[in-house]
Amino acid sequence: MSGVDPERRGLLRGRQAALPFPPWAATDFTERCNRCNACIRACESGVLVRGDGGFPRIDFTRAGCHFCAACVDVCEREAFDVPFTNAPWTLRPRLADGCLAARGVVCRACEDVCEAAAIRFQPQLGGRAILQIDTDACTGCGACVAACPVDVLMMEEAA
Ligand code: SF4
Ligand code: SF4
Ligand code: SF4
Repeated sequence: MSGVDPERRGLLRGRQAALPFPPWAATDFTERCNRCNACIRACESGVLVRGDGGFPRIDFTRAGCHFCAACVDVCEREAFDVPFTNAPWTLRPRLADGCLAARGVVCRACEDVCEAAAIRFQPQLGGRAILQIDTDACTGCGACVAACPVDVLMMEEAA
């Protein structure tokens, strides 16, 4: 499978609305966060980046979130909802047109990285397969987004 075209990813990012805040971000996150970026340095997955306005943002094209809470632990401004009474966020992956498996190309990159086993494929005639996401099993980690070589998975607020 070919690698991901960085230029294409850049264009994709440019088309996106503002990237999400880190998991468990408080509702008044932008008022509490002083943009010190300590959370970005603490994030070992690489999913956190300095985004719009200098605030930390989640960029799923780079990696998934491990929900390790290192970003929360390092924050001195209490910009997160703790204790964790709420879900880290309500983001879930959505599949756009262009999945390789739907065209008969053998690709299971998203399934391979999904630790929640939330991705399955329904075989079709002609070697094609239709991707199905179990939204109950899905944790919203976004690992599948980063793994997809053709960028047809994206994270959106669950309906
Ligand atoms: S929970 Fe962990 S992996 Fe996710 S953004 Fe925070 S530090 Fe990064
Ligand atoms: S976002 Fe959901 S479907 Fe994607 S890898 Fe994570 S748990 Fe699996
Ligand atoms: S990684 Fe992307 S192209 Fe491959 S099966 Fe998953 S959604 Fe389809």
